[in-house]
Amino acid sequence: SYSGPSGDEILAKRKEYLSPSIMHFYNSPLNVVEGKKQYLFDENGRRYLDAFGGIATVCCGHCHPDVVAAIVEQTKRLQHSTVLYLNHAVADFAEALASKMPGDLKVVFFTNSGTEANELAMMIARLYTGCHDIISVRNSYHGNASGTMGATAQINPDPYRGLFGSDGPKYARDVQDIINFGTSGNVAAFISEAIQGVGGIVELAPGYLSAAYESVRKAGGLCIADEVQSGFARTGSNFWGFEAHGVQPDIVTMAKGIGNGIPLGAVVTTPEVAKVLTRRSYFNTFGGNPVCTAAGSAVLKVIEKEKLQENAFVVGSHLKERLKALKDKYEVIGDVRGQGFMLGVELVTDRELKTPAKEETLHVMDQMKDLGVLIGKGGYYGNVFRITPPLCFTKEDADFLVDAMDYTLSRM
Ligand code: PMP
Repeated sequence: SYSGPSGDEILAKRKEYLSPSIMHFYNSPLNVVEGKKQYLFDENGRRYLDAFGGIATVCCGHCHPDVVAAIVEQTKRLQHSTVLYLNHAVADFAEALASKMPGDLKVVFFTNSGTEANELAMMIARLYTGCHDIISVRNSYHGNASGTMGATAQINPDPYRGLFGSDGPKYARDVQDIINFGTSGNVAAFISEAIQGVGGIVELAPGYLSAAYESVRKAGGLCIADEVQSGFARTGSNFWGFEAHGVQPDIVTMAKGIGNGIPLGAVVTTPEVAKVLTRRSYFNTFGGNPVCTAAGSAVLKVIEKEKLQENAFVVGSHLKERLKALKDKYEVIGDVRGQGFMLGVELVTDRELKTPAKEETLHVMDQMKDLGVLIGKGGYYGNVFRITPPLCFTKEDADFLVDAMDYTLSRM
């Protein structure tokens, strides 16, 4: 049982001592004190089904015993910066991660976060190409530092709201245009998520990535796949999100679920590209320390042992089908999209005009929380539910989520 401060007391402290810019979900925010599998518990011991936290670091389920044991064991033995010394936990995880990558992607650099991973990937691309410009997609999110915030933003190949519907190659012409008219003709890199996460679970129009990669490579640039959200079996059909697009990136970045909640990020590239880091030193004190990499190794084993990719595919497909049926029932649902356990439900007040139903989104989220189900939100207009549960989410959980959404919508 919990004997700590109440949610109100924590909120008061947060207002006084933490950044005024941080936001919280829900009118009365949740005080989460414990997590287990796909559940979170509040200060009163009430259980919530967590259908969002899978993206925000936890992939194997909250406090998975194998991952916890790996962290505890390694913490007892050694926690240190291992940039200057050797340690097997670090090398073992690099090897295990490389074995999950296609082609020649097998050199790993560790960081503490997704932002750091993408900043490093961009630095590598700039060193490798000798060029500066990085092309990215509008509505994407790659991090909060100057490079990741400053990449150019091209037309979003969004099949629901985009100008060219599902015609991927047509959107990719915008990438060619910026190369032709906005650069010297040479660029350092193109970076994209396989499915946009923060941007509202936007699946890129088919054929976009391969066409964009082609233009970028002709301009001498490298292609970076940001797998911070779509990696680690989340999309179900593949271990990495980019695989569904039939492309082979030059650099892959990852974070969040990689350590099941432990701060860890990684950049994986080819030996040839990796060589450029001998020209400029990159030092990261705690990037890939033994405790975090021990967690990473445990995560890969759990995904395999518990067949979590298969689960994401089977349960995710069922969940998507049921959400689509809700769309037939309620006008307010404009779109249901995504793959596996990376699903989005976009709310609109008018299906023709696609007017974002922002208030309805907040209302449904709040009501569902009261029914014991936590979902996220995102998108350009904040009107898209993000459903990204831990990979151990079951069919019964999926049904409960949809029933709770159905009940809430029926009373609106
Ligand atoms: N890339 C993507 C696709 C992300 O969703 C995020 C985080 N939302 C990041 C990068 C940045 O990761 P971090 O917050 O660990 O810096």
